[in-house]
Amino acid sequence: MIPEINDPTPSTEIAKQGIREVLQANDIPTLEKVRIKYVGRKGQITTILRSIGKLPAEDRAEAGYFVNKNKQEFLVNYETRKEQLAEGAQEVKEFFDYTLPGERPPLGRRHPVTRTMEEVAECMMQLGFDWAEGPEIEDEFHNFIALNIPENHAARDPSDNFYIEDDVLLRSQTSTVQIRYMEEHKPPIRVFAPGKVFRPDTVDASHFYIFHQVEGLWVDKDITFSHLKSVLLMFGRMMLGSDLKLRLRPSYFPFTEPSAEIDFSCFVCGGEGCSVCGRKGWLEMGGCGMVDPNVLETVNIDPEEYTGFAFGIGIDRIVMAKYGIDDIRLIFGNDVRFLRQF
Ligand SMILES: [Zn+2]
Repeated sequence: MIPEINDPTPSTEIAKQGIREVLQANDIPTLEKVRIKYVGRKGQITTILRSIGKLPAEDRAEAGYFVNKNKQEFLVNYETRKEQLAEGAQEVKEFFDYTLPGERPPLGRRHPVTRTMEEVAECMMQLGFDWAEGPEIEDEFHNFIALNIPENHAARDPSDNFYIEDDVLLRSQTSTVQIRYMEEHKPPIRVFAPGKVFRPDTVDASHFYIFHQVEGLWVDKDITFSHLKSVLLMFGRMMLGSDLKLRLRPSYFPFTEPSAEIDFSCFVCGGEGCSVCGRKGWLEMGGCGMVDPNVLETVNIDPEEYTGFAFGIGIDRIVMAKYGIDDIRLIFGNDVRFLRQF
């Protein structure tokens, strides 16, 4: 760079402008005109150089130093540009200092939810399940009717769902993928479906209106509740540790019969009780059960011949406990200062 301070002449500013014009010159004739304008016989820098003799004696040495240095700088840029143009280079728009250190671009990394989803997928695939996906915008048939949720059921209330049109909504559960998959495939069926679901909720540290779930479905001859129990236990242990315990509590869902709530022993405190599990030692993970015969009939699978189980597990809970995140809003905020930690 050209030194800017202590130059008793305007040569520094003039040389800077001259270098800018050199770099913007797009052909040799233009470049030549720039050279003459600045360092030709009547050029601006030449004129300053000649006028040094008229300066007060004490300023002459310094002025001479700067003007010569600036002229040198100008000529170096001129020669470089001349070579570039001879090689057919294009215009350089901005003055660019090649000696500046490079800027390191910020590196992205995978979101904790994505990473956990990938771990879930890996466990499920090791257990012999195939990956299935379905749309996030669903119709009432797949979100409710086929899942045995009748017209007046509370789950269909508009205040509990994001309706887009009369019979179109953001899916409120990943069980919709079960229906879509069974419509197109005949047993044996063994799939899992990870994805987002949407339910209106007042947002606070532990509530949000988007959730990540993984759905599991196994339909074949002679599938029983014990298959369900062992798959859940194996899944939990692969994901969260070999000491994990499984607890199933009787429950009710329209699309499974019998149904149960899934609890995992708290993988933060090992079941002794901590703030994550609310001192209970257990974490509520989701719901499961044997696929209701009505659901199988809806998708033309004979419930006399086939049985199956289904489960849905919340992923955000696992992410929060695993990464020590105490506010669910951070998961969805996409604040890079937060995400950079993982
Ligand atoms: Zn705990």
